[in-house]
Amino acid sequence: MASTDLSPESLAVHAGRPQQQPGGPLNSPIFLASALQPGGTSEYARHGNPAWEPLEDVIGQLEQGSALAFSSGLAASAAVFSLVHDKAVVVAPNHGYNGTTQQLQLRDIELRLVDVSDTQTALSAIEGADLVWLESPTNPALEIADLPVLIEAAKQSAAIVAVDNTFSTPLRAQPLLLGADVVTHSLSKLMAGHTDLVLGAAVTNSPDLFSRLKQHRDLHGAIPGALESFLTVRGIRTLHVRLDRAESNATELHRRLLEHPLVAESRYPGFGTVISFVLEDADQAQRVTESSKLVTYATSLGGVESTWERRRRFAAEPETIPAGLIRLSVGIEAVEDLWRDIDQALRA
Ligand SMILES: *Cc1c(COP(=O)(O)O)cnc(C)c1O
Repeated sequence: MASTDLSPESLAVHAGRPQQQPGGPLNSPIFLASALQPGGTSEYARHGNPAWEPLEDVIGQLEQGSALAFSSGLAASAAVFSLVHDKAVVVAPNHGYNGTTQQLQLRDIELRLVDVSDTQTALSAIEGADLVWLESPTNPALEIADLPVLIEAAKQSAAIVAVDNTFSTPLRAQPLLLGADVVTHSLSKLMAGHTDLVLGAAVTNSPDLFSRLKQHRDLHGAIPGALESFLTVRGIRTLHVRLDRAESNATELHRRLLEHPLVAESRYPGFGTVISFVLEDADQAQRVTESSKLVTYATSLGGVESTWERRRRFAAEPETIPAGLIRLSVGIEAVEDLWRDIDQALRA
């Protein structure tokens, strides 16, 4: 069956497998190589090698573009930011992933940080921009951007528009189909899904942008490792099942958090695996996150196990994020076990 006939769930399971042949494995092996025989597309493993081809194949098919794997999500965003020159005008979310914001703040650019859920303000900022960087939902504020409208406006302004699709995954949003030039991922989160590696990707349909992003990867060297590539493909095989289960857990936990007397506010955009809820102050939130027995007190998100943390414990987190905000990454455990633990931690 042509892969274009397959739904994303089937692509997650089947894309990127080796050609079927008698006695052949169903999965690509873990290739360990630095030099490759001359005559192929790459002779040196920094420029391309079989270790990450299955990964780029499956991500490219899921996002419907051509994928380049990077050593981390931030390596992928750094490659995207290399597309604009000094003094460029860049629009980005004021509550985006703080590492991405810090990367932009290091650059000699005019940085316009906006609330991407305020469409009018975002549209004004996009006028005259060279690069529009979007993240939706934002991390950890969970604001939703009107992607079709903002992408269209960016294109009208002849800006490059890139979307960090980490929180949505290609199963919940496909920004390239909305006209985005580039999509990036922290594969470290939901895509790999097991809290055991750091990896990233950039995906585009533009041959020009692809070759510029690839040149950046070739020359800066932020390439994925063979084992991480293998494990990420393996994680993607179950992405849809993990996502469905974590979403049904998150929907129920959000409903109960909204009713809980100690919870001032709970945010859940209706999809994805992250809930951000707000307690009265930093001390209380810190105590609660350190009182859980099943939900692990840890950073990061998107693993099969539930984790939580108070985001403002990091100095780089913007002060407009409430000090008592807890970011809960919902895993695939039994929801009643999760609730019993969250409820006892809230009382602790
Ligand atoms: C974690 C994260 C990143 C950074 O990815 P790394 O793989 O940690 O480098 C970028 N964007 C979002 C939304 C993230 O959650």
